[in-house]
Amino acid sequence: MAILTNNPALASVGNAFISLFFPNQCLVCKGGDFHSSDPICPDCLQQMNPHPIENRVKELTVNNGIDMALAGWDFGDELRTAVHSLKYEERARIGSFLGKVLGERLHLKTIQELDYLIPVPLHPVKFRDRGFNQAEWIAIGVGKATQKPVQTGLMKRMKYTISQTTLNREERLNNMKQAFRITKDVTDKKIGIVDDVLTTGSTISSMASVLKDAGARTIVALTVATPLEKTDDTHAESV
Ligand SMILES: [Zn+2]
Repeated sequence: MAILTNNPALASVGNAFISLFFPNQCLVCKGGDFHSSDPICPDCLQQMNPHPIENRVKELTVNNGIDMALAGWDFGDELRTAVHSLKYEERARIGSFLGKVLGERLHLKTIQELDYLIPVPLHPVKFRDRGFNQAEWIAIGVGKATQKPVQTGLMKRMKYTISQTTLNREERLNNMKQAFRITKDVTDKKIGIVDDVLTTGSTISSMASVLKDAGARTIVALTVATPLEKTDDTHAESV
């Protein structure tokens, strides 16, 4: 919330107003007293090591069905500690905030052309235990910044997954594909799949394959963080 005025007296009334309603403390460093409704202070956000917005799809172990894969920050100690130290309700708040900040950094034509976003669904049992899906909160934040609708019920995760250890690569992919069901027509749709961390790509790839089999046109993976190496800054923001 910005108070736009050149009058210092009015500005300080404005800040007092914000402080009154947002007596803010950074959820990560527990310090800070910054005038904003954001849950993380700018210093902590910077320390989380932002990655250039670049297509990482070729770096994934499994990328079938995925056209583009983007991640906002390094999944390093800073972000990990920040997220793991939080209570669940605080994680939800940080999830939607990081999603919003990520969304504000996505100035790509491919993103502007998306029809909607879907969060990676949680296993129903996990959802019952946890009470919320972090990916859903992130999707809400990304949706707010990019003005894309979020379709939470479009893909469902089935309850069972058979042990993967004895399966070969192809059987594994098919097995994973059976873990997801689509609930409505996706023909020709351009879809962003949102998750917290981008690692091997296997979960998003399974979803992407199911969506592509059903006629979806473009699938973009949008994630907050990745442990993949940071790429060269020279190509930043130019996908
Ligand atoms: Zn902080």
